[in-house]
Amino acid sequence: MNKTFQLPKQARIFKNWVNGQWVDAKEQATFSRQSPGHQQTVGQYPFSSEQDTVAAIKVARETFDHGQWADLSGIDRSKIIANIAQGIRDRADELALIECLESGKPISQAVDEMEWAAGLWDFAATMCRHIQGGANTNLGAEMTVMTIKEAVGVVGMITPWNFPLLIISQKLPFALAAGCTAVIKPSEMTPGTTLLLGEICQQAGVPDGVVNVLAGYGDPVGTTLSSHPDVDMITFTGSTQVGRMITKAAADTLKKVELELGGKNPQVVFADADLDVLVDAVVFGIFFNMGECCNSGSRIIIHESLKDAFIEKVVAHAKKMKFGDPLDPSVKMGAIINPQQCDKIMHYIEEGKSQGATLALGGKKLDTPEGIFIEPTIFTDVTPEMSIAKEEIFGPVLSIITFKENQEAVDIANSTEFGLSSGIWTKDLNIAMTASRKIKAGTVWVNNWMTGFPEVPFGGMKQSGLGRELGVNSVEEYLETKSILIKANPTAGNWTTGE
Ligand code: NAD
Repeated sequence: MNKTFQLPKQARIFKNWVNGQWVDAKEQATFSRQSPGHQQTVGQYPFSSEQDTVAAIKVARETFDHGQWADLSGIDRSKIIANIAQGIRDRADELALIECLESGKPISQAVDEMEWAAGLWDFAATMCRHIQGGANTNLGAEMTVMTIKEAVGVVGMITPWNFPLLIISQKLPFALAAGCTAVIKPSEMTPGTTLLLGEICQQAGVPDGVVNVLAGYGDPVGTTLSSHPDVDMITFTGSTQVGRMITKAAADTLKKVELELGGKNPQVVFADADLDVLVDAVVFGIFFNMGECCNSGSRIIIHESLKDAFIEKVVAHAKKMKFGDPLDPSVKMGAIINPQQCDKIMHYIEEGKSQGATLALGGKKLDTPEGIFIEPTIFTDVTPEMSIAKEEIFGPVLSIITFKENQEAVDIANSTEFGLSSGIWTKDLNIAMTASRKIKAGTVWVNNWMTGFPEVPFGGMKQSGLGRELGVNSVEEYLETKSILIKANPTAGNWTTGE
C-alpha cells in the first residue's frame, strides 16, 4: 500500500443515527475511545440508554409498518443498495482510518476490509432482484396456492469490534434487500464506521427511519434490543457467551435469532503436505488481525513426522512479519484491542507454560508508550486437553499439536465445543474428502485458509452459531414465507350440518 495516513490531532465527535438524523443520547451522555495503538482519545460517542434504544425501535417499527421500504420494488431497493456499495468506496480511506484507530488493526488491512465490505453490498444488490415466491397448481383444478416472501420486519443487529464495517455488511445489505428495517448496535469499542454507514445509506437513497444506529454498551442497548417485543429478529455476531444470553433474552418474545459466534479453528496438516506451500497460510491464519478473528487458525494439528521441520519454518516466517504502529502501511500486526483483552491473552500464555507446553516464539507483552502489543506467540508440545488447545484466546497465540493416525487428527479437530472453520492440508484426495466430511465445522478449507466469497455461505456448527450468512440464501434469513390458498368457484360447505 503506498498511501499514508496521519494520526488526527483531535478526537472525532460521533452521534447516533436515528430517523435520518444525527442525535445525542439522553441527557447528552457520552463515552470515549482510546486508540489501542496510540494511547490517544480518537472518538467520543453517545452513551445510549434504554430510552434511546426504545425510541429507535419505535422509529424502525413505524417505518416498517408504513411500508416506506418493503413496498418498494426489488429493482428500486437493489439500485439503492448498489449506491451504498459506491458510498463505502467513496469514503473508504476515512472509514479505514477510523477502524484502524479504534481497533488497533493495521491500516493496510483496514483499507482492504472496506473493499470487502463494499463487495458484500454489490452482492446483496444482485440478490435483491431474485426474491420471489412460488406457486402450486398441482392441488386440484380449483386450487391455486401462492407462497410469497415478505420481510421479517424490524431486525436488531449486534456486532463485535474485530471487523466492524465488514460484519455489519454481512447483515444489513441482506436485511435491506429483504425489505426489513434495522436498529444496529455496534461494539462500544469500534462504533465509528457503523454510525457513518447510517449517513451513507441516507445519501444512497434509503428512506429515513429504515437504518438506525446506536452507540452504547451491551447492557442496556443490546439487552433492550434482544427482549423488546417490537423487534422481530436479532442477528448477532460475537462471543458464544453473549450469544447464549441473547438467545435467552429473545425467548420471551420468540424472536427469530441468528448467531455467528466464536471458534477454535483447527488446521490439520497430514503427512504428505507440502510445508513450503502452507507455511505462509498458517502464519496469516493465526496472526491476521492479531489473532482477534473468529476464523483464526489457532490450532495446528500436524503429523508427528513433520513437526520439527514445520516448527522451524513457521517460527522463521513469523519472525519476518512486521508488527507495531497500526498506521505504518508495512505493519502486519498491530495493537491488542484493550488492556482487558491483553490480560486475557497473557493469562492463556501463562497457562500454556504452566500446563507443560513449550514456547517456541514470543510470549511477551510490550507495553510501549504508544500502545499495547503482544508478540506473535507459538506453542509446541500442546495436548488437546490444555486450555490453549480448547478455548478461544482471541489473540496472537498458535498451538501446535501432533498426531500419529489420521482418525486421531479428526478426533482432535472435533474435540472442542466450537465448529466454526477448519482447514486440511494434503495432496491426497481420499484423505481430503474423508476428513472434510468428518470434521464438524461450517467451513472446511482444503489447501487454503480464510478464502471467502459473498457467494459462499458462512456460519458455525455446535457452539459456534445458528444459521448462515452470505451465499444464495443470504436474503432468505430475513424473509418470512406466507402461503395464500385461493379457491376458484367456491361452493357452500357442509361441515356444520354434516350433510
Ligand atoms: P462480545 O460477545 O463481547 O460482544 C459482541 C457485541 O455484543 C458487542 O456489541 C457487545 O456490546 C454486545 N453485548 C455484550 N453483552 C450483551 C448482552 N448481554 N446483550 C446483548 N448484547 C451484548 O464479543 P466481542 O468481544 O465484541 O467479539 C469477539 C467475539 O466475537 C469472539 O468470540 C469472536 O469469535 C466472535 N466473532 C465471531 C464471528 C463469526 O462470524 N462467527 C465474527 C467475528 C467475531
